[in-house]
Amino acid sequence: MLRSLKFNLKFANKRKIQLLQELELEYKKAVNYYLKLLSNNRYFLSQEEIKSFNSPLSYAFKQCAERQAVKIWKSWRKCKKRGKLPEFDGTLILDQRFITIERSKTLTFDYWMRVSTLNKGKRTLIPFRSYNYANKYFTEWKLVNGGRIKRDGNNWFLLLTFEKETPKKKKEGKIIGVDIGIKKLITTSEKEFLGKDIERLMNKIQKKQQGSKAFKRALKERDYYINKIAKQLPYNDTKVIVMENIKNIKKNTKKEKKLRKEFRSKFQRWTYAKLLSRIKQLCELNGVHFHTINPAYTSQTCSKCGSVHRLNRCGEMFSCRNCGYTEDADFVASENILKAYLAQEPMVPGRVKAQMSNHFSKGYNQCREEMLRRIEESGDTHPVMDGRSIR
Ligand SMILES: [Zn+2]
Repeated sequence: MLRSLKFNLKFANKRKIQLLQELELEYKKAVNYYLKLLSNNRYFLSQEEIKSFNSPLSYAFKQCAERQAVKIWKSWRKCKKRGKLPEFDGTLILDQRFITIERSKTLTFDYWMRVSTLNKGKRTLIPFRSYNYANKYFTEWKLVNGGRIKRDGNNWFLLLTFEKETPKKKKEGKIIGVDIGIKKLITTSEKEFLGKDIERLMNKIQKKQQGSKAFKRALKERDYYINKIAKQLPYNDTKVIVMENIKNIKKNTKKEKKLRKEFRSKFQRWTYAKLLSRIKQLCELNGVHFHTINPAYTSQTCSKCGSVHRLNRCGEMFSCRNCGYTEDADFVASENILKAYLAQEPMVPGRVKAQMSNHFSKGYNQCREEMLRRIEESGDTHPVMDGRSIR
């Protein structure tokens, strides 16, 4: 498994920054030149074509730029919704021929980046500092050679990749469904509620002026909180974690002004994506299988009898109109997520089957399928309640 970490290059002096700027400018020009050549339906360029770019860049740099252009070109070709081929203005991906990292012998800095620039035959040394979170990567993970150079306005960053053998997936342990919500960040099918502060943090962001320092601070606070909560899932005694894939996420529960709503939902999608990728990483690290299921009526389906009705859910509460089962709505959703996974999984004798029958009555799937068919037939595919469309 791989992880990428970012380091600030703010200790580079003006001359060194200028060298980076010159390199960036030429390198980007080269990538765009090669992209243009590739756009005549090509998949690689000849040595002559690579050399044909007129620039102070060394041939090695040109090769590196060509490789990056090919990557961009291929992924653009694969993308279904592609527009015009974009102008390259991104991160420089440089291999070990151009970037090496050394540990600093003094205490002022932690590491040095030795980087090639347009100054042929002469490497530039740029110091940088590590930080708490990164330290364990330097000691416990293997640093992958090379690095990426990224500029954000006037700030320069170095992105390093670390590698570690992926732990084997566990064969024993619990299978849990995980629901992500607005009032509680995480609800599990084990009836654990985590991250009750998320709403307060989201409201805080909303009160700040977008782009202001206070706004950015509030975003940081939320990100820190998301990471903290993601760690609290019981990875130790769990073998599978199931979540909904992120295409359709829960909308607001309250009637709010349209602008406010759009603002919120934009941030919620972001929160969801962030949390999902964090949990996925933690699963990988802890040998837990990570699965996503398609969200379909997970918040309207009764997890006891399988009845689907848009009026089953009312805000934070779930109350089944068929069997009367009443529970926390997020908890019911998490049970449905777990069920959707168990229903997909081929039945292995023993454990899984046992867990399924413990949790759910036999008629659940039949009933749910029947209800879904009726909903589809009536054309009421996206029932709306309280102005909220349902996942
Ligand atoms: Zn029911």
